[in-house]
Amino acid sequence: MSRPVVALVGRTNVGKSTLLNRIVGQRHAVVDDQPNVTRDRLFVPVTWNGRDMIVVDTGGWGLDAESGIGAKVKRQAELAVAQADVILLVVDATDGTIPSDEEVAHLVRAAGKKTILVVNKVDTHRHESLVSDFHGLGVEPIVPVSAIHNLGIADLMDEVVELLPQPQDEDEGDPDSVRIAIVGRPNAGKSTLLNALLGNERAIVDATPGTTRDSLDADLKWQGKNIVLVDTAGIRKRTRVPFGIDYFSVLRSMQSIDRCDVALLVLDAEEPAAGQDVTIARYVLDSGKGLVLVVNKWDLIPAEHKQTHKDWLARRLEFLSFVPVIHVSALEGRNVKLALQRAIEVWKARRQRLLRSSVDAVVQAAVQRHPPPKVANRRLNVIWAHQDEESTWKFVLHVNEPKLVPTTYERYLEHQLRKEFGFRGVPLQFVFVKAGKPRKSQGVSPWKG
Ligand code: GDP
Repeated sequence: MSRPVVALVGRTNVGKSTLLNRIVGQRHAVVDDQPNVTRDRLFVPVTWNGRDMIVVDTGGWGLDAESGIGAKVKRQAELAVAQADVILLVVDATDGTIPSDEEVAHLVRAAGKKTILVVNKVDTHRHESLVSDFHGLGVEPIVPVSAIHNLGIADLMDEVVELLPQPQDEDEGDPDSVRIAIVGRPNAGKSTLLNALLGNERAIVDATPGTTRDSLDADLKWQGKNIVLVDTAGIRKRTRVPFGIDYFSVLRSMQSIDRCDVALLVLDAEEPAAGQDVTIARYVLDSGKGLVLVVNKWDLIPAEHKQTHKDWLARRLEFLSFVPVIHVSALEGRNVKLALQRAIEVWKARRQRLLRSSVDAVVQAAVQRHPPPKVANRRLNVIWAHQDEESTWKFVLHVNEPKLVPTTYERYLEHQLRKEFGFRGVPLQFVFVKAGKPRKSQGVSPWKG
């Protein structure tokens, strides 16, 4: 099922991105410290109290304390708000209510969506009296937080979970079919690839334009496997918004990623690995879905430049070194079936179930060979390790102290597991639990471990 969308709205400088980073916590450090890739973290999958959601920063729409809300910005803001299930309207306690807050509040109230007014920068008790100032905005409930000092975030997330729509039972069909999402930037060639795969344009019908929820899937059979291409309507839909295209197409990609097992991320060979590609790739990894990189428009790259292109991309996307890359020309139908083949391989790798004892043996041998560094004069001790019962790409390590696991060490363990078990195209996730403590099988929050 697609995750519900929780949108942060508000003018610039109220602390939306700091708040988003707080909500995400530390788990993303693994990918964040990679060189060459700056991450504009605008969309993040979050699980709180067992509930999944995407938290998005809708940007400041260029609104600062002085400027008013222009017609164009207003339309964009309305669209962003319309896509959200829960809105967090963020204001700045130290500024008090100012006209642009009122404009945004008006817009949010008009949308009639579930909203929380988040008063940020309540850093000390002294500031708490400032909160009452905001009742005039007419948005309830009001939750004071300090994103910088990490205060009130848990209370805020508890409130958010209360307001999320009830998860619907969606029929995901045959569990043995391979659910594939074709995602990427506008113009990367997704529709062309889709048509090449289906071999017949009439095989699918366009959905009527509407919200991102009106997805339409296409079924096909390939080499005896049932394949579902999710949200074909979204792939073919031309974004009609003249601004904020990235925002809406990324959101739509994410919602189809939520519904897939493996994502084919289509890159434009003439312009590969742009910011938006990286954002989508990270979302796939964060969601624990399989990934295949499809470098499209390969026909446009001169033969003598092909190798340089491959080398450059591999360096640029070093954090995806475990992901298979294929080079295709959707237009000429070249190599397109290889995309399905790779997707199936990744799907199989993602479902592989390992022997409990073999996982523990590989982890223990890795720890023996290369013991973890000491943190605060204490050393990590791995008591035992196993694969998660439900999510086969997750590994649970029972340790003396979960806080003692440096990110670099997590990466080392990942490398060792990959050497032994493959998992090509599958992002591995680690859950560190204090030995002896029972662990809930679901709802690992990004705040922990
Ligand atoms: P989408 O927005 O990602 O669905 O992109 P489209 O499939 O609509 O393709 C955008 C443009 O790129 C169209 O003009 C396509 O004809 C062109 N295109 C798509 N794939 C290829 C390819 O493999 N090679 C070349 N040269 N052009 C392509």
